[in-house]
Formats: sequence, C-alpha cells, structure tokens
Amino acid sequence: MTKRYKYIFGPVPSRRFGRSLGVDLLPFKTCSLDCVFCQLGRTKEKTIQRKEYAPTDKVIEELARWLASGVETDVITLSGSGEPTLHSRFGEILEYIRSNSQSPAVLLTNGTMLYLPEVRQSASLAHVVKVSLSAWDQASYEWVNRPHDDLVFEKLVEGESKFREEFKGKLYLEVFLIKGVNALPDEVRKIAALVEKIRPDRVQLNTAVRPPAEGFVIPLSNEELEEQAALFEPPAEIIAEFGGKQAHNIRANEDAILSMLQRRPCTAEEISEVFDMHLNEVSKYLGKLLRKNLIRTERRESLIYYCGTTSQA
Ligand code: SF4
Repeated sequence: MTKRYKYIFGPVPSRRFGRSLGVDLLPFKTCSLDCVFCQLGRTKEKTIQRKEYAPTDKVIEELARWLASGVETDVITLSGSGEPTLHSRFGEILEYIRSNSQSPAVLLTNGTMLYLPEVRQSASLAHVVKVSLSAWDQASYEWVNRPHDDLVFEKLVEGESKFREEFKGKLYLEVFLIKGVNALPDEVRKIAALVEKIRPDRVQLNTAVRPPAEGFVIPLSNEELEEQAALFEPPAEIIAEFGGKQAHNIRANEDAILSMLQRRPCTAEEISEVFDMHLNEVSKYLGKLLRKNLIRTERRESLIYYCGTTSQA
C-alpha cells in the first residue's frame, strides 16, 4: 500500500510547467496576502512571521522517498497551501532538490517577502521563480491582494526589482486580472509600467479560471486577455490551459486524487491527464469521493471543478 505523504503532493497539472510535484511547507492558507482571486479560498492565517512551519528534515525525508520511487515529474515546485517564503528554511529544501533531482526546482511566491535580503538569497537557489504583481499602488494592492497590515506596495515592487538584479535563473511574473477590479486599460498600463522596470524573463497574464475566494471575481475572456497582453512591452503571454505531457507511471489512487483536490480544484479531464487514467476510471474515483463527502463540485463557466471538502493542514 502506498504510504501517504504529508508535505508533498501530485504531480499536479500546471499550466506553466506541465507535471509539477508540489511541496507544501505551510499550514492551509497561511499567507501574507488574502487575494480576492485565491483558488484556495480566504486566508486563515494572515502573517508575515517567518518560521519553520513544517519540519525541514521531514520534508526532505519525504522528497527522498518520492525521488527513490522513480515516478516522473517535469518540475518540483514549492507551492501549495500558502506563501512558501514564510518558511524560514525553504532555501535548504530548494538546495536539496537542486542536488538530488534532475527536475528543475521552481518557487511560486507572491513576492511580498523579497524585500528581505535573506529571502532573496534563499529564493536564488530555485531554477525558476514566479512572482506576482496585480496592482499598481497601495490602494489597488489593498483591494486586490488584501495584504497583511505591515506590508506596503512600494516594498513589494522594490523586493521584486532587487531580486531581478541578483537572480541568475528564470524569473516569471504573473499578473492576475479581474473584470471590474484591475483590468481597465489605464490600470493595466500602470501595472505594465512597473513590470517593465522589474524586467522579468516572461510576463504571464492569468484570470480566474478556477473557483476564486470571492464570488464577485469575474474572469476575463481569452479575447479580453489578448487585448490586455498587447499593453505590455514585450507583449505578455496568456497562460494556456493545461497541456503537459502525460505521466505514464503515476499510480493514481483515491488518496492521491483526494490529496490533490484538497489543495487545488481540478476538472476530471485534468485529473485524467496528469494521472494518465481513462476518464471513466477517474469518474469512478470521483464518484467514491463524492459519496464519502470528501470532495464537492463547483461550476465555473461550462466546466465542473472538483475540490476537497476539508483542507490539508
Ligand atoms: S493567491 Fe497566493 S498569494 Fe494570494 S492569498 Fe492565495 S496563496 Fe496567498
């Protein structure tokens, strides 16, 4: 029987990286922000306190066990239930991935802690870092990202800019656009001007394709995103729907699917693709989990997403 993992999950479908093995270092929804579009729901613990939320040696032990199992993944990503840079030893975990795996180490961060030199130094150990910028001043930051009281917008931009100067790997910057909130051309132009100063390798536009924290969050259409992408210089990319390679040796089971859905809502097709399972087989697992009330469905546009009814702490 497969031994369950507490800190690692997936591989999950990633619209940027294909198959991504997730490493989750924080208790559920522990974050410095409370973004209105967050697919994990509202932040439970809004904090900027850095500490060893998950025991580093246990996380490394799990990674070692997973790597020994021979399952394939395209990348290993620090992401999951909150902001990974709040973990005081996340750099050691990146270092372990670098030294022990062929898969690139990816860090998904909201960028809020990059104003600290020690966080920039640890983040530099990743091969790819994705930061975010979806506001243009303090007022829009408060509206879109609902930051911790001690965070100011200038520090976010300053931290991301400094990190760009120091970081030799690939820096991606995500701009999350929401209708009626931060997607008017004038607003997007202001964000684009800041992005130009930060100089990431790639700018990626995203919108609420998964169920967001707040009901008023309305996604942009693909055409609208394309119009906004042209306001960036060079033009931003729109993150395409999941198109990663199939994972041939992932042994999916109820636990693995549940663990994924507790952290990230997915459609049946996405589950089918990442686990290389026939849709009928996926439906069987989903049916079982629904009957046990371990997952529920949410509709967005014409798609049905499955989400865990309990979070993974
Ligand atoms: S989207 Fe990311 S940064 Fe924003 S609240 Fe959710 S976990 Fe935190």
